[in-house]
Parts: sequence; structure tokens; C-alpha cells
Amino acid sequence: MPKITSIAAQQLGCFSPDYQTAQQHFTQLVNNTKQLYDQQTFHVENTRCQVALTTHAVWIGSPIANKVVIIISGTHGVEGFAGAAVQNDLLSRLQHDYSVPEEVAILLVFALNPYGFSHLRRCDGEGVDLNRNFVDFDKPLPENSGYRQLQAAIFTADSSTRNQLFIDYQSQYGQKAYEVAVSGGQYCDPYGPFYGGEKPAHGRKVIESIIQQYQLAKRKLAVIDIHTGLGSYAHGEVINDHPIDSHGFHTAIQWYGASVTSPIAGNSSSVEKLGLLDYAWHKHMQQQGCFITLEFGSYPTDALFEVILQDHRSWKSGDAIAKQHSGKAMLEHFCPADIYWRELILVKSRQVIQQAITGLQHG
Ligand SMILES: [Zn+2]
Repeated sequence: MPKITSIAAQQLGCFSPDYQTAQQHFTQLVNNTKQLYDQQTFHVENTRCQVALTTHAVWIGSPIANKVVIIISGTHGVEGFAGAAVQNDLLSRLQHDYSVPEEVAILLVFALNPYGFSHLRRCDGEGVDLNRNFVDFDKPLPENSGYRQLQAAIFTADSSTRNQLFIDYQSQYGQKAYEVAVSGGQYCDPYGPFYGGEKPAHGRKVIESIIQQYQLAKRKLAVIDIHTGLGSYAHGEVINDHPIDSHGFHTAIQWYGASVTSPIAGNSSSVEKLGLLDYAWHKHMQQQGCFITLEFGSYPTDALFEVILQDHRSWKSGDAIAKQHSGKAMLEHFCPADIYWRELILVKSRQVIQQAITGLQHG
């Protein structure tokens, strides 16, 4: 194995080959954590899977701590491979040489979308992208006319025909409009990518429940939602979706520094999106803390769309071999096997977790 520079090779063992192993690893580490206060499990209902699909919430540290770092993995199922590795790395460090100040508690939310994690997909068992699901379902659902225009192209199997249709759209409406049409969120096609659903999904109910149970609205929060697959290779982008000039917006810059990006300001790899998980937290934060998406890039954006569309086509077709093939491509895109990529994920996430703790303490 090539030599790793700053993280010992054995620590890369916090990356697991599948959902079940990641979960076993996580629960084992949790049970050995001295400062463990509480752990809860949330099972996915009505699943046709043979494996139980579970989200875990784990509170480490004092129950009365009024400052909390919350780390979420697997909002987008398959992205949980990296997110869970970050959580397992933290748990492992807490057993060795790392400690958190007494006034700060850690809340880990493991595998927010366990179906996607175990099936190597971004979406859940109903095709829902959890990060488009936080909309008000009592109101008429948002309309994405660009998606409808591109819907037929998305499911065109021949890649040169499909790409030509995409290029035609881009040249007519621009690159940003194209990205919003495909990835901004749509509420009309459960088989399609970035589908927001028609009711609150499992992961949303979990988030709403833990916000209430742990009375998080009364505490000062640093929420870190870990994602992968968008942006430069192995770069950890700290994305700030708080409205410009809000308290959360400035807090994120103060805590995480000048590299923080903002889709609303237009300097992020990410475009503005509907129904983000962020919005569920923003309304509880007010003057207290901030929410960031920690997004680790891998292969280029074209490859990202290609692999996601391939996944949706194979699941729509129901072909087992096509699903296996697309699952493999999804795993490599969202958690490359390259040990240097994995090392940088741990290095950056350790830095961001420490920035969150310091920010909570002194911010
Ligand atoms: Zn994601």
C-alpha cells in the first residue's frame, strides 16, 4: 500500500465496504464511548428489504450542554460512506487522544437515508431525494419547468443523443439554468433524479423528532451535513446556504473562514435548490449558530450527472445487472477507492469539526 502522509493507514479503516459494516462499526464504537449519554434508533417503515434499515442518533457529552456540534451522514444515502467514516473517525479519536470541552456536546446522526446507503443510491426507497424534501407539503408543490423540458432527454439511453439534447438546452438557457433544471429539485417524477417527494420522508421525520426531543432550538448549534460527489477532487467545500446577511451567514464565515461559499451569492459549486435539509435547521437557529454542508468533490460535474442518470435509468428499467453496474459506478463516484482521496476527507473533516467546536466556544 502506498504511504499515507498524515493519517495512519489503519485509520482509513473507518471507511466501510457496505452499509451493514459501517453500522456495525459505528455501534461498536458508540458502545465503547465513555461520554455516551443517549442513543436512539429510527427504523425505516414499510421497507421490502431483508436487511433492517436504521438511522442512529447518538448524544455524546453532557445532556445539559447548551452548545452542540451535530454531524449528519447519509442524507444522500450512498454519500454516507464518507460521512460515516468521518463519524467513525471522530468516535475512534474520542477513545484515544481527542477530547471535546465539557460545555460542548456532540450529536451524531448516522445514515439519515439508510435505504440509499445500503442500495448505493442517493434517493430513498420511494425515489425521494431527502435534500429536496423539506418543502411545505400543505402548499402546492414547486414547479420545475426546466426538468419537464429535459425529462425525455434524461431517460434517453443513447449517450450521444442525450448529451446533444443537454447541449441544446445549455446553449439556449445557459449552464446554470441547465443545472437548476436537472438538480434544483422536481416534484413530478418519482423515477427521476432530485425528486422531492409528496410527503415528509423518513429522514425528515428523524430530523424533526431529534430537534424536538433534544430541544435543539434552545441550544447553540453547529450543524455539519456531510456530502460528497460535487466539486473539485477531494476538496472539502464548506457551503453556507443561510440567506445573505443573516446571522447564520456571518457566523459560518466567522467560524469556518474565508473559504466558505454561498450558492445564493453564486460562488459555490452548488446551485440554489428547493427543499434543502438546511431550511429545517435555519428556522430554529435565529441568533444561535449555523448550518453548513461539507461537500467533498470527486469526479467532474458531467461525470456526476452521468452516474446519477445512469442510476435512475437502471432502477426505472428494473434490470438487476444494470442496477449492479450503476451501483458500482455510484460508489466510486461518491466514495472513490483512492486512499489519498479518503485521507483528505478525514484531514479536512477533523479541521472543520475543530473549527465548529472553537466557534461554539468563542463565537
Ligand atoms: Zn449530497
